[in-house]
Amino acid sequence: MHIKRLVLDGFKSFGRPTEIPFYEDFTVITGPNGSGKSNIIDGVLFALGLARTRGIRAEKLTDLIYNPGHEDGATRGGTKEASVTVILDNADGALTREQVVSAAGTDRIGEIDEIKIKRRVKQTEENYYSYYYLNERSVNLSDIQDLLSQAGVTPEGYNVVMQGDVTEIINMSAYQRRGIIDEIAGVAEFDQKKDAAFEE
Ligand code: ATP
Ligand code: MG
Repeated sequence: MHIKRLVLDGFKSFGRPTEIPFYEDFTVITGPNGSGKSNIIDGVLFALGLARTRGIRAEKLTDLIYNPGHEDGATRGGTKEASVTVILDNADGALTREQVVSAAGTDRIGEIDEIKIKRRVKQTEENYYSYYYLNERSVNLSDIQDLLSQAGVTPEGYNVVMQGDVTEIINMSAYQRRGIIDEIAGVAEFDQKKDAAFEE
């Protein structure tokens, strides 16, 4: 399974709907400073609900909404909604129909060769709202997280290696580094369960 494409709409510097294709093996995004490369990665973290532990360089969720006056700090209204859709290629059947149906809470999910995970944040005068969708069905964050964890994508995982992470790993003690290997190998989960069991 891999990300096939991304659609950003009203998200950070993407004021217009923008589709970004990803290749199966390797995709490189290049561009001048401040052109929005990191915003694309922020979009993936935002949509997949992986942002809490990794950070998407925004103080509040509503800072993620495209703001034409961003550069000079002014707020000029405009779009009050941001969305990012991550389209996953599931042609290899990494996620089964049962798993997707269970996460969506309905069997009306269409084809599952492509899995579409969308997150939307909407700002009104006094509040803001956040919504998640799985193949166009409204779901909760936990449904998305449960589904992704079955494909090995978790917020604590190392599916996303952020700027600075590599240096951090190099500077770790051998013991801490083994913790990462345990996490990737899936051993850490059992250690946590074991600790929890001992506590009870
Ligand atoms: P670098 O090469 O320096 O890492 P980059 O390509 O990763 O640059 P980003 O950090 O993705 O650049 O994009 C930064 C740009 O996004 C800035 O110009 C900033 O003004 C703009 N930006 C961030 N949030 C918003 C927003 N809510 N509305 C409009 N523009 C935004
Ligand atoms: Mg950057």
